[in-house]
Amino acid sequence: MQTLGNYVDGVHHTNQTSRTIAVHNPATGQQCASLILSEAEHVRAAIDVAQTAFTGWSKVSPLNRARVLFRFKSLVEQHQDELAQLITLEHGKVHSDAMGEIQRGLEVVEFACGIPHLLKGEYSLNVGRGVDCFSMMQPLGVCAGITPFNFPAMVPMWMFPIALACGNSFILKPSEKAPSVPLRLAQLLTEAGLPDGVFNVINGDKVAVDELLHDERVHGISFVGSTPIAEYVYATASAKGKRVQALGGAKNHMVIMPDADAEQVINSLMGAAYGSAGERCMAISVAVCVGDIVADNLIEQLKVAIDDMRVGPGTKSDNESHMGPLISQEHADKVRNYITAGVEDGASLIIDGRTFVCPDNELGYFVGPTLFDHVKPGMRIYDEEIFGPVLCIVRVDSYEQAIQLINSHEFANGTAIFTRDGNYARQFVEDIQVGMVGVNVPIPVPMAFHSFGGWKRSLFGPLHMHGSDGVRFYTKMKAVTARWPKDQPGSADFSMPTMG
Ligand code: NAD
Repeated sequence: MQTLGNYVDGVHHTNQTSRTIAVHNPATGQQCASLILSEAEHVRAAIDVAQTAFTGWSKVSPLNRARVLFRFKSLVEQHQDELAQLITLEHGKVHSDAMGEIQRGLEVVEFACGIPHLLKGEYSLNVGRGVDCFSMMQPLGVCAGITPFNFPAMVPMWMFPIALACGNSFILKPSEKAPSVPLRLAQLLTEAGLPDGVFNVINGDKVAVDELLHDERVHGISFVGSTPIAEYVYATASAKGKRVQALGGAKNHMVIMPDADAEQVINSLMGAAYGSAGERCMAISVAVCVGDIVADNLIEQLKVAIDDMRVGPGTKSDNESHMGPLISQEHADKVRNYITAGVEDGASLIIDGRTFVCPDNELGYFVGPTLFDHVKPGMRIYDEEIFGPVLCIVRVDSYEQAIQLINSHEFANGTAIFTRDGNYARQFVEDIQVGMVGVNVPIPVPMAFHSFGGWKRSLFGPLHMHGSDGVRFYTKMKAVTARWPKDQPGSADFSMPTMG
């Protein structure tokens, strides 16, 4: 059985004495590795290393930092298939989905390769006679990323390429449920020429996270995970004076107007609701149908499409499954309990995934695709994030009711409207109180050169991930006002304005 530990100072350490937990293949329920959980002293040792490495790395020119990332990009591409297989092994998502997640991560690397341009700063000539003013962006120091299980490659890659490109050193604390890919990415960074200690992976649980939040040598914390932990991370690290961005949970609605293209709706909705077994922060978990006819027609189409779904292990094959297992037995039980709660709360259960058993993989953590109709606010399946293959249909009478429904929800990560009407689409984009919006696009994940983040209780902190917000997050601005002595003393007319 493989033992996984920490990647610190360019070495994978697998012999530290500490607590361990089992990592499972969710498709079979079998253990596939043993993971060492870090104690506070291991985290402190990694921070020592990252702090030392920062001194040298922050002085490397942006162009040379970008060159390391160019080589890293090429290595990830060469190993993309292998990395995707590791994701499928520990997370369960299907191979093509895992390949897609790495691709989205690579796009952030490509963006970070443009760092010489992104760090150019600002310059104002002659703000006074002979006085210039310029602003420059400097790295924060040691930064840390704490990431969830559902995108073991992409979410860390939202963070570290930009953090490193900006000249920071980085400590990643990935999910303990899918630790192999982050460790492999660390090796590829070393292979790409990143100096030892600039990027480190600390595996662990709350003990490791708390040490990162409290140690004053860590200056920036990027977190992605569930809302209660995001809120805790934000409050704890902010109180310590750190810069924090903490992305939380979601409940994403897709509004279907009567004029929407029915075929486009069904194709989009099936992937958005059931892809990756619904374990995506941008999954559509609520279809808001404007009018009963829209809802009735959609349900008929969904029944057929769900019936055609292949649910099984995500392993690479010509006849790949559409949907794999959930991450753990505990999570599968939680999703089944939500389905039971939906029935108890009065929603109509159209398709029940609770009893699904995957042939030849009876011990896997599978829950079948599930569909509810007549779901309403106040029901647990509507109010809370399920994070599983459960789609809820909410019926409303008008566009205005749809807007009111969505804007009343505590989460505000992503949303979409499907319509052919430009007026409704434009109005929706303006009216909706959600961070990422799609028009006839079900999962509107922004490209790497834009920024990713929700509103309300889906994000704590002012700056979103990647894009220009990412560069801003991982740098601090310094403004310099400079005057050089001239031949004629006193010739400059610059003076600071004062308040009375
Ligand atoms: P999680 O909150 O359980 O774990 C996230 C990270 O926090 C992990 O590294 C974990 O080890 C750590 N952690 C867990 N409990 C902790 C505690 N008590 N104290 C300190 N650290 C702790 O989330 P998860 O189950 O791994 O991921 C699923 C969640 O992530 C969902 O809610 C999903 O919506 C969210 N998510 C959000 C986004 C987004 O962009 N908003 C993206 C992906 C996932």
